Amino acid sequence: MEKVEILGVGISNVTMEQALDKAKAFIGKRGHMIFTPNPEIIMLAQQDSQLKEILNEADLLLADGIGVVIGSKIIKKPLPERVAGFDFVCRLFESGASFYLLGAKPGVADAAAEKLKSRSVNVVGAYHGYFDSDDDVISDINEKNPDVVLVCLGAPRQEKWIYKNRHKINAAICIGAGGTLDVLSGNVRRAPAVVQKMCLEWLYRAVLQPTRFKRLAAIPKFLIKVAAKR
Ligand code: UDP
Repeated sequence: MEKVEILGVGISNVTMEQALDKAKAFIGKRGHMIFTPNPEIIMLAQQDSQLKEILNEADLLLADGIGVVIGSKIIKKPLPERVAGFDFVCRLFESGASFYLLGAKPGVADAAAEKLKSRSVNVVGAYHGYFDSDDDVISDINEKNPDVVLVCLGAPRQEKWIYKNRHKINAAICIGAGGTLDVLSGNVRRAPAVVQKMCLEWLYRAVLQPTRFKRLAAIPKFLIKVAAKR
């Protein structure tokens, strides 16, 4: 698959529809990894060579943030569109695959599971993200036998966790999906469509969760670094 390399990270050159087709083709196989980097994660990978290697091993690396798409335009290898991790996961729910939800504060994954089940999404299990033993979580996942595991532990923990455990997990795909369960449970609101269209979702999220403001500094730093390397 064609990739667009931005600061040493090879982003998959795909639209949302193409990404969904690829993911659906993984169902029935085993051990695939999908990550959804934004500028912050790509900047983290500049200091963390293990994270960079893990991202580059992914079967699909989706441009979660609008900053990544802008970065691709700066280097004159434009990605077709933003493929937001949350939207990608919501579309994948429609595929009929079975899902296991891992991550977020105790109660959140269970609440997300209940809401999804009421929409007829096939959720087979859930576990919070503040566990002590990987083995306990992995045996629960394997007992429930899902097609897809959503791993929502925040970056870079989720990417490293998936990479370390991917051969022990009996599932077709593990997706690093950040704050997805917080939104699915109803605890955090997604930006309104008009804000998303204005490419200002990052600002909306920071206003709702002010602790995110310091994380926004990564966006200009990322764009300056991409422009400097052009
Ligand atoms: N989280 C977790 N275990 C941890 C640390 C974080 O399950 O040890 C969860 C946290 O509760 C939140 C998610 O990971 O639900 C990270 O969300 P964030 O919004 O930071 O992710 P983003 O979408 O920005 O990558």
